[in-house]
Amino acid sequence: MIFKRVLLGRHLYENCEVKTEGGYVSSVRAGLDHWEVGGILVPVFADTHAHFTSYALSINRPRLDGIKRVEDALDFISKKLEEVEGEVVIMEGYDDSAWGRTPTKRDLDRITSRPLILRRVCGHKAVLNSSAINWLKERYGDIPGLDESSGLAVEHLPLNLNRYVPPEEREVEKAIERAESLAGRLGVLLIGENTRGFFIRKLVEMDRAGRLSLMWRVAVYYDELEGVKDLLNYRSENFRIVGVKEFLDGSVGARTASFSFPYTDTGEKAPLLHGDDYLKEVVEKAERLGLGVWFHAIGDEAIEQALRVLETSSNPGKHRIEHFLFPRAEHYRKAAALGVWVSLQPNFTYRWGRLHGMYHRVVGDAIYWHNRFRTMENLSVRYAFGSDTMPPGPLYGIRGALKHPLPEERLTLAEALYRYTTAGAEMLGEESVGRLEVGKKALFSTVSEECVGIS
Ligand SMILES: [Zn+2]
Repeated sequence: MIFKRVLLGRHLYENCEVKTEGGYVSSVRAGLDHWEVGGILVPVFADTHAHFTSYALSINRPRLDGIKRVEDALDFISKKLEEVEGEVVIMEGYDDSAWGRTPTKRDLDRITSRPLILRRVCGHKAVLNSSAINWLKERYGDIPGLDESSGLAVEHLPLNLNRYVPPEEREVEKAIERAESLAGRLGVLLIGENTRGFFIRKLVEMDRAGRLSLMWRVAVYYDELEGVKDLLNYRSENFRIVGVKEFLDGSVGARTASFSFPYTDTGEKAPLLHGDDYLKEVVEKAERLGLGVWFHAIGDEAIEQALRVLETSSNPGKHRIEHFLFPRAEHYRKAAALGVWVSLQPNFTYRWGRLHGMYHRVVGDAIYWHNRFRTMENLSVRYAFGSDTMPPGPLYGIRGALKHPLPEERLTLAEALYRYTTAGAEMLGEESVGRLEVGKKALFSTVSEECVGIS
């Protein structure tokens, strides 16, 4: 077939014929005089940092995405309550960055006496009503990061909500089925997934039964590593554990990302979550097990720590920094020098990173530090894109790469597609896909030009 535009290497070529044979690319010829299929053909989209499993689980719950005012959110919650079965009601995806305030325990107490938990879109913050606090305390005692007077919980509880309020096995299975269909429809066939032990166990069980169709490359949270040790050697085309995930800081939205300066709105700084020695142990253990670390680091202080710790590894190129959102100029250079992989989310630029957007309001001029795509190209930083499932899929993020607040940091469409395909496959260690070349697997995604905001 002859495609109107095809991504070959880092460039888009017109009128390009791609032939396949037996599931592999057998020939590629560019520059013909016509096309048969419109849009753009790219190697398979690779989402290097995703949470498709927990996202799919959360879609089964009421979601507050897109609600613009706190009053509307409270209305929505009271209407949806009746539809939710089970003891504890969990609602997901609220984004209070433009609400003027965060809902509190008191707001939620007025709505219901059932245990109710709202989790923010970033996953780092939640609000609980009094019954939810009591429900959790009866079962688990005191919970770190939960402020009982306001009902606000940061980091530990929201990030581990599925451990405190565990889903049933059938729900886990249904979430994986839904994750596969969702990712597949978005053209994401290769997934760098951050996920929990119970999902990993179910993914392996389903793969053994031939029920997985996408390629899952998974990082397990460090505190659950022991629980999946028996699965570390399980390797198939569709599934393998490749990494260990640990958090160095939190998120900007929850004001828990660790910067070298205080937030402009709260006047406070957020601490690092761990000391260097602990993180070095994580690296050593991962390396002993043949895994890479996936260090979540958003603020410049956390990024500095990630680089400092990874510098002591004998093989920094095996490891990754997730988000790498607000590095200082020297951090870009150091990441390049060490050869560590960096997973960036250009969708954060589109959603929160524009002038006068949320990042600008809370970190001020440091907004200009974030996601400097062109700088990374020039320094040859090893980086690829992922969505963090906010929202899932590459298209929203690609627009962010094309619309950085600093025009000189923007990528071209071809470069952005490359970072979401070829570079992603390389980062996830998949040599057989990710390039439209003779001998590679015939796995492709297509995208219409309108979808990525060009025509
Ligand atoms: Zn994430």
